[in-house]
Amino acid sequence: MSIWSDKGHFIKGAWTGAVGGTTVENPANRASIATISVGTTADVEAAVAAAKAAWPAWMATPAIERAAVVSRVGELIEARMDDLAKAITLEVGMPLKLAKMIQVGLPLQSFQNTAKIAHEFPFEKQVGNSTVLQEAVGVVAAITPWNYPLHQIAAKVAPALVAGCTVVLKPADLAPLNALLLADIFEAAGAPAGIFNVVTGPGAKIGLHLATHPDVDMVSFTGSTRTGAMLAREAAGQIKRVSLELGGKSAAVVLDDADLAKAVKATVNACFLNSGQTCSALTRLIVPEAKKAEAIEIAREAARSFVLGDPMDPATRLGPVISEKQRDGILQLIRTAADEGGTLVAGGADAPEGLDQGYFVKPTVFADVGPDATLAQEEVFGPVLAILTAKDDDDAVAIANNSRYGLSGSVWAGSTERATAAARRIRTGQIEINGGRFNPLAPFGGFKQSGYGRELGDYGIEEFVEPKALQL
Ligand code: ADP
Repeated sequence: MSIWSDKGHFIKGAWTGAVGGTTVENPANRASIATISVGTTADVEAAVAAAKAAWPAWMATPAIERAAVVSRVGELIEARMDDLAKAITLEVGMPLKLAKMIQVGLPLQSFQNTAKIAHEFPFEKQVGNSTVLQEAVGVVAAITPWNYPLHQIAAKVAPALVAGCTVVLKPADLAPLNALLLADIFEAAGAPAGIFNVVTGPGAKIGLHLATHPDVDMVSFTGSTRTGAMLAREAAGQIKRVSLELGGKSAAVVLDDADLAKAVKATVNACFLNSGQTCSALTRLIVPEAKKAEAIEIAREAARSFVLGDPMDPATRLGPVISEKQRDGILQLIRTAADEGGTLVAGGADAPEGLDQGYFVKPTVFADVGPDATLAQEEVFGPVLAILTAKDDDDAVAIANNSRYGLSGSVWAGSTERATAAARRIRTGQIEINGGRFNPLAPFGGFKQSGYGRELGDYGIEEFVEPKALQL
């Protein structure tokens, strides 16, 4: 049985009916896995009208009741974890076990956490003679990418709804099935009609029409820096609120007293997760000059342990990348890295053997990458790690900061104090100290060209409210 039968778009709590128009491809073997409907501007108009009509009643609904709807959606995500994980593995290519844990586990936590936080969130507080209300921004256009598709949707939809906003989602064209399954879940949850709407279709047409619609009060976008900048320019004319989660080129800084093996292995794992298609991926490994040779050997061994293959096969650690275009772009950057003097440590631009049906890229590591080389500056969005060297702590921090991005990072040192001291000097939205684990309640978002705005936890809800002061 197919993972999805086309039912059209989800607008005002109902399906519009299948019109087809495009298929979703499995990047592991290029097989078509589902047919879906391509939206029109009329579909966007209907979805925005539904969200606008639903907004007053939803905003007037007590936050605790809004949270109950979000919590119910969380319960149904949990009940359908296997279906969701399978859909995401088929459309994105992440190995199934990891997809279940991360691609479904994180969105589940977003719905659960946000519902809980709603109970304590200061929707109303006293400041002197004022009652300050945190009022919903209004109709939100959520435009999301394909790399962690359901996570990126959940990080917008759950807090927007808890805040009292209503949402029109335009999911990524390459991985829309999880968004349609989520719409199914909203329907099953009995969510009020119109609070959450989904229209699928191409970004340049449907996404742009949605983002620039005069009845949309805020655009919450995750994707490329190029598209984000364009949407911000468009929004400026209407003084529309915008939040942007964009690219990254995050650094793992390893200081001379760190546990080198642990630091290098963890960085390789973080770089190759989801075939390197992670905006917060640690793609620049900065090691002390004296530790370079040792770091290269550890990285080479670690890269070797990434078995490429079908993401449905439990033995696979590295699936394909999402599309032919992405793969070709990654291979081009690998060739450029070699042309610019990088030393190939593992992988490379050759096609991996026996996997010619899908878009596979070998797990690749380069050493001798200069801080201004293309590989040290451009986001690859593929399984490619650059090893750079630093003279001392100051130099390592300067190299880490030599990026137009600032989304994530890590610092490794012999003590928490030394690692933290370096981390305080790195301009980035998140930074792991000696392998500190991802915190789904911590603010996630970028400095510099990685964007603005923060997602997750109570910071995520703050994005979707505006303060309003009543002077008493
Ligand atoms: P990625 O390289 O991660 O796909 P994009 O920025 O191209 O990044 O896409 C992220 C999301 O933005 C997708 O849902 C895509 O369809 C949408 N998108 C792409 N171009 C536009 C555009 N011109 N206007 C609005 N949305 C767009």
